[in-house]
Amino acid sequence: MKIFCGRANPTTGSMEWLEEGEDYDYHQEIARSRYADMLHDKDRNVKYYQGIRAAVSRVKERGEKAIVLDIGTGTGLLSMMAASAGADFCYAIEVFKPMANAAVKIVEKNGFSDKIKVINKHSTEVTVGPDGDMQCRANILVTELFDTELIGEGALPTYEHAHKYLVQEGCEAVPHRATVYVQLVESRRMWSWKKLFPVHVEAEDGEKILFPPSEVENCPGVPSVCDIQLNQMPSSDFSTLSDVVTMFSVDFSKPVQSASTYYRVQLEPVKSGKAQIVLSWWDIDMDPSGMINCTMAPYWVNPTSALQWRDHWMQCVYFLPREEPVLQGEKLYLTACRDEYSVWYNLQKAREGENKADEEEHKADVCVESPVCRCRAHLLWNRPRFGELNDQNRTLQYIKSLRKVLKTDSVCLCISDGSLLPVLAHYLGAKQVQYFVLFFRSFHFSLIFFSDFFKANHLEDKIKIIEARPELLKPSHLEDKKISVLVGEPFFTTSLLPWHNLYFWYARTAVSTHLASNVTVLPQSASLHMMIVEFQDLWRIRSPCGTCEGFDVQTMDDMIKDSLNFRESKEAEPHPLWEYPCKSLSDPQEVLTFDFTKAVPQHCLSTEGSVKLLRKGKSHGAVLWMEYHLAADISVSTGLMQLPNEKGNCEWNPHCKQAVYFFSSVIESEILSDPTAVTYAINFDTKTGEIAMDFKL
Ligand code: SAH
Repeated sequence: MKIFCGRANPTTGSMEWLEEGEDYDYHQEIARSRYADMLHDKDRNVKYYQGIRAAVSRVKERGEKAIVLDIGTGTGLLSMMAASAGADFCYAIEVFKPMANAAVKIVEKNGFSDKIKVINKHSTEVTVGPDGDMQCRANILVTELFDTELIGEGALPTYEHAHKYLVQEGCEAVPHRATVYVQLVESRRMWSWKKLFPVHVEAEDGEKILFPPSEVENCPGVPSVCDIQLNQMPSSDFSTLSDVVTMFSVDFSKPVQSASTYYRVQLEPVKSGKAQIVLSWWDIDMDPSGMINCTMAPYWVNPTSALQWRDHWMQCVYFLPREEPVLQGEKLYLTACRDEYSVWYNLQKAREGENKADEEEHKADVCVESPVCRCRAHLLWNRPRFGELNDQNRTLQYIKSLRKVLKTDSVCLCISDGSLLPVLAHYLGAKQVQYFVLFFRSFHFSLIFFSDFFKANHLEDKIKIIEARPELLKPSHLEDKKISVLVGEPFFTTSLLPWHNLYFWYARTAVSTHLASNVTVLPQSASLHMMIVEFQDLWRIRSPCGTCEGFDVQTMDDMIKDSLNFRESKEAEPHPLWEYPCKSLSDPQEVLTFDFTKAVPQHCLSTEGSVKLLRKGKSHGAVLWMEYHLAADISVSTGLMQLPNEKGNCEWNPHCKQAVYFFSSVIESEILSDPTAVTYAINFDTKTGEIAMDFKL
């Protein structure tokens, strides 16, 4: 079977569909999966084991046989726990074939083949009866089907079906119950991921302020969950307006309903402020008494207890449809609406003298519709991109550089997705009409959005949107003028890795004939930087596990290793490092430069060298990022924001993902007298726009 994989081509900036063998998808899935992270999640594993033992004992105490249904068995871990705890038989259901195959091997290797039957099906396809997949209904239901939002992986419909068809009434469930918690906060930083703030520009004729159109102001945004490592958000970046409140719980031992519904709680702000964000996380009780609890609560909730790092479960940030000023002690209602797979929030003020009857009526006008972007900005800009556009310091660097190069008769052409640079250029005194290339891939939304945006700021005659790809640009698009200033951030929505934004260079090459002989290109160049790091935690997601709670899961390790070695899987991967602390072990090093004043060369750009390991630590991998040189002494970095401090702690650009290349073997450096060196070879293939790299430790 052939499959088609969508992939952005960094030399054309567009999506291409490549035909791949069947294995490709599967290797991608395994290599990038969270199985390793789950197996490293000690807290989760220990508590599941405790909960499973307790459930098996309760069933045995009733004099019944313990028949377990494990939905989504993965490696078979939870079924092996149940079998060890004395379960009589386990049905281990796994829909993903490579995993089901792995589970069979792992179960066999650990000697449980007679107690565990692995069934490669979706649970809703499983049959019960003498000729069925299961001989009889189970009396213990074990699952781990949760994502950061709890229900995003379809836990509710799966439970609903299992209670109807696969388990006995009154079954024991591990986990027994899940509870979702919320806290209302004000945070300029997080709010900047949803809204475009007015942009201030100091122009020669006074301050200009660019306002987003009112639709953006009132838009509820998009429904997709914003899941982050909230423990990396310093407390100075938000202010809590309410206590932690229980929003809703689901009892997994009883029939579960997946149909859309809502939950409402009353809140009294502990402080006055602007309600903008609902932070949310959940915990699971493995047993009915609630003694075995596994929680995702962030650091400020239980300051004394140790935090378990995990990447498969994080915390959620929900954006209220509108910012709402609230007063300490006033009565508010917070509503969580959910459908089968997602949750969203609304805040309402209680009306004066409200009684119970009003409250009921009030419930009726709770918005049950999931948020849909009406302003198109949320389709054009994702949350980190909103954050980047709202980053005033970054904007200032562009303003300073533009100011240096612009003249009143400058003719600018901007090539960057969803960029505000043409507006800055206009405000900074370029009196001619500015041009802004929009591409087909984001064209539809962009065109409508920017037309509205420019109109709202009376710029419709000043900035002309060109509906053409750079290579199809004709002199008539530019009214036969030559471009004197070519600008880009550069930023393109299809970029995954930092160097994919080098598409700007390809676009610059494609428009060469339209450039004046003395054209200024801004940025004038870019450079690729690299540093060797020790991760505090991120290493776990790619590290073999060996045994997990006494079970041999090496088969899984081997499978991940195979997939990582499978062709391109062994390449750098994007991670937002502000969420994943690391220590620098080497100095950051500039490894390649790209000269935008010239066209992309025909030949490859390659470099070799070595970096010294200056600090003690484990070399988990290399981090790579781009820096753009806007003007002689003005650069913006998409990676390190400043040099690491003397301990090697790093501050990363909070709006960008950096490239992480995990080394296949980790070395521990002790040294200082004779620093160990890591040698590297890095090659930028100008034909494909991709960077290949190799490291030797
Ligand atoms: N139980 C394992 C793995 C959990 S990951 C552990 O705790 O370590 C969840 C697994 O469930 C994935 O492998 C996914 O493919 C599978 N899955 C999710 N929903 C399913 C369903 N309804 N039926 C069968 N498998 C399912």
